[in-house]
Amino acid sequence: MGVHERTLTTFPLMGTSATLCTLGEGDTDIAPAVVRRLRNLEARLTVNGPVEARSRSQVEAVNLASGVSAVAVDAEVYSLLRTSVRASREHRGSFNALIGPVVKAWGIGFADARVPSAAEIEGQLALTDPDEVELEDESRTVALHRVGMRLDLGAIAKGYAADVAAAMLRQAGLPGGLIDLGGNVVAVGTAEGGRPWRVGIQSPFAGRGAIIGHLSVQDTSVVTSGIYERVLEAGGRRFHHMIDPLTGYPFETDLASVTVVAASSLDADLWATVAQRGGLAGGFAAVSAEPGIEAVFVTLDRRVVATAGCRGQLTLTDRAFSLG
Ligand code: ADP
Ligand code: MG
Repeated sequence: MGVHERTLTTFPLMGTSATLCTLGEGDTDIAPAVVRRLRNLEARLTVNGPVEARSRSQVEAVNLASGVSAVAVDAEVYSLLRTSVRASREHRGSFNALIGPVVKAWGIGFADARVPSAAEIEGQLALTDPDEVELEDESRTVALHRVGMRLDLGAIAKGYAADVAAAMLRQAGLPGGLIDLGGNVVAVGTAEGGRPWRVGIQSPFAGRGAIIGHLSVQDTSVVTSGIYERVLEAGGRRFHHMIDPLTGYPFETDLASVTVVAASSLDADLWATVAQRGGLAGGFAAVSAEPGIEAVFVTLDRRVVATAGCRGQLTLTDRAFSLG
C-alpha cells in the first residue's frame, strides 16, 4: 500500500484564490491540466475586468450584440447559458442571470463601486427580463432582445467550474481530492484512510479561513454565499453583492451566509443564491422543499440552522454560534 500524500496547488481564478488538493499516487499531471482547463473556461465566460480580459469571452460577445443580433457560442457555453436562463425563468425573484445591467451599475467588488440612483436602478431593472432571451438549440445561438441587456454568470460560474474540475479528478481515477474555488467546494471521493472530507464553514464575521464549524462529506459539493464576500460601504451603510432581482438592491436579509450541500456544484451555487430570498424563513422553506438540496443557514444574530438532510454532517466548533 502506497502512502497517500496530499498535493496542494493554488491559483487565481474568477476573482478568487482557488485551491486544488489531490490525494494519491500518479496525480502529478492532473493539477496543471485542471488549472489550464478552468482558466480557459474563465476566459470564455467572464464579463468582468478590462476589455482585454473579455476579448475571448463568448458571454461578453452575446452581451455586446444585445438588441442587434444573435451570437453563436460553443457547445459548452451554450449548455451553461441555457441552464442559466432556464433557472432564471424558474426562480424569478431570486436567481436571475440577466441581472448584469444592475450588477454593473453597482460595481460591488470592483474599483468603481457606487450606489446608483433609484432612477438608474429602475432603468437597468427593465433590461433583466429572462423572457427576452432567445436560445436556438440547432445553431447554438443566443440573442438578447434589448440593447443593454447583459448576461452575468457570476452566481454559478464557479459552481460549474468546480464540477468540471471534479470530473477531471474522477476520470483520472484519483481516490480523493478537494477543489475549493473561493468557498465553492467539491469533495471528490474520501480523504486519507477513507474518512470523509471536512469542509469548513467560513465565519461570516471573521477573516478568511476562520471557521464556525464543518460539514463531513464525500462526493458532494458545499457552496457558501455570504453577505460578507464583497461589500460596498457608502453613507454609513453596507451593501453586499447579491442583488434582489425584484428591487435591484441587495437582498434585505437576516442571513449572514448560506452554505448549500448538493451533488452538483452548479446546483449548490445556484441554490446559494436562490436561498437568499426571504431570509432564514423563506430560504429554509425553499431548500427543504427541494429534493437533493440541503443547507446550513447562519443568521446575523449568530444562530445556525441546518435542514434535516445535512444536520447529521454538521459539527459546530465556535461557541459564539448556537444551533437553532
Ligand atoms: P461569490 O461566490 O463570488 O460570492 P455568488 O455565487 O454569491 O458569488 O454570486 C454573486 C455574483 O452573482 C455577483 O457578483 C453578481 O455577478 C451575480 N449576481 C448578483 N445577484 C444575482 C442574482 N440575484 N442572480 C444571479 N446572479 C446574481
Ligand atoms: Mg452562487
